[in-house]
Amino acid sequence: MKILLINTPRSPHNMILESAPEEAKKYIHKRLIGPPLGLMTVAEAVKDYDVVFFETKGEYDLFPEITPPLKQLVTNLLNEHKPDIVGTTTIASEFNYAIDIFKTVKAFNPDILTVAGGLHTSLSPNDFTDLSVDLVLPGQSAHIFREVVQAKEKNESFENIPGIIINKEGKLYSTKNRAYKFNSAEDDFLMPNRKLIERWRNSYIVGNAKEPSTYLFTSLGCPYKCTFCSIWCQFQGKYLQRDIESIITELKEMDYNIVRFADANTIVNEPVIEHLFDRIEQEGIKKTYIMDIRTDTAVNNPKLIEKLAKAGLKVVICGFESFREEELKKYNKSSEAKLIHQAIDIFHQNGIMLRGNYVIPNDYDDSDFKALSDYTSSHKVTYAGYTILTPMPGTPFYEEIKDQIIDFDLAKYNFFNSVLKTKLPLEKFYENVGKLWLIKKGTDVI
Ligand code: SF4
Repeated sequence: MKILLINTPRSPHNMILESAPEEAKKYIHKRLIGPPLGLMTVAEAVKDYDVVFFETKGEYDLFPEITPPLKQLVTNLLNEHKPDIVGTTTIASEFNYAIDIFKTVKAFNPDILTVAGGLHTSLSPNDFTDLSVDLVLPGQSAHIFREVVQAKEKNESFENIPGIIINKEGKLYSTKNRAYKFNSAEDDFLMPNRKLIERWRNSYIVGNAKEPSTYLFTSLGCPYKCTFCSIWCQFQGKYLQRDIESIITELKEMDYNIVRFADANTIVNEPVIEHLFDRIEQEGIKKTYIMDIRTDTAVNNPKLIEKLAKAGLKVVICGFESFREEELKKYNKSSEAKLIHQAIDIFHQNGIMLRGNYVIPNDYDDSDFKALSDYTSSHKVTYAGYTILTPMPGTPFYEEIKDQIIDFDLAKYNFFNSVLKTKLPLEKFYENVGKLWLIKKGTDVI
C-alpha cells in the first residue's frame, strides 16, 4: 500500500501587501513559514506503510524557478510513485489547492483513494463535495487515517469506520460517531518525524535568522472563545495539555535550535509551563523559543515570563487585537486593552522581542485608523502586525456577519484580504492597513 501525502501550497492573495506604500512592503508578512506539523503527524500514524511525503510550500520557496505549476507537479509525483492513496490537510485559504490536487489525482487514475483532513474539514466539512474527494476526516484524525489505509488494504468498506465522511457522487454521508475520541496530546500523541522534511529544511528560516526553526506543540486547543478564532471551534473549547516528558524527549531528539511552540496559547496552566522549563533547565537543553502569550497572562505572571526569558524565550507573539475595550468585548477576548502597555513593558524588560498583532475591522474609517496609529505609535513593540478581521467559516463571527460577505473565494480567507464590504473605499482601506506596518521599534521581520 503506497501513500502519497502532499502539503498544499499557500494562497498568494495579499491585498495589504499589494496596496501598501513601498517602504512598508518589506515588513508585511508574505508567508507563514513553518513545517506542516499536522501532515507529519498523519505520516507518523502510517509509518509502517510505504509513505512519500511532499511539502509543496517548501518546494516553491526553495526552487521557484524549476518547480512546475501544481497540476504538473502532482502529475510528476503520481508518475514517479504510483500511490494507492493520496492525502492532504488543508486550511480555508488553501482549500482550492487541495481540490486541485485531488482533481489531478482522479484525472491520473480514478482508482486512487483521495482523503482530505485538516482544519477546514473540521470547520466546514460540507465544502468537500467535489467528486474528486473520496473521504473527509474531520478532527484529530491521524489514527483514523490509519484505519482508512487498513480498510483499503483489506478491501473493506469505509462505512465501518466511525467518525468519517464519505463522498458518494457529491453527497456527503457521515459514518456513526466514534465511541472513543483520540486525544492527540496525551495517550494518542504521535511524535513527528522531522526527517520527512529534511529536503525543505532551509525553507524554514524566518527573517534574518541564521538557521531554520521548527514547530513543536505543547498543547492543543484554547479555553478562550474569541468570536473570530477558529482554534477553539476546532477543539470544541477543549484545551489539551501534552505530557511534559514527551515534550522533553522531542526537544532532545530534534536537531533544530529555534523552536516555535505551535500552540494557540502556550501558557494556560502556569505550573505546567513552570515545570516544563524546570525540566528544560535540568536537562541542559539550550534552545531559542518562540511562543504565543496573551497580554493578561504576561501581566498576571511577570516572574514566569522572566524565568522563560532566562531559559531562552526570545520572541513572543501576542494577539492585542484592539486598543479599544469595547472592541475587545465584542470579540469576546476576555482581556483588557489597558493591559497592553503593561504586557509590552514586561516583555521588553526581559529582552523579549515582541510581535503584537492587531485585527482591523471592515468598518474602520479614517478617524479609526488615525486613532489606532496614534495608539500603536505610543505603544511601540519590536514588530507589529495588522491583519484584517476575517469571518473564518465555522466561527461565531462568520455566522454573525455572513450577510455582509461580498467575496466567497476561500483563497482570500487568510487575513490579508477583506472579504467584507469596507466602510472606506477598498483601496484606501488596504492602503491605511499597509501604512500601519511601518509603526514598530525593530528593523526586521520576526
Ligand atoms: S484568539 Fe487566541 S485566546 Fe482567543 S480563542 Fe483564539 S487562540 Fe484562544
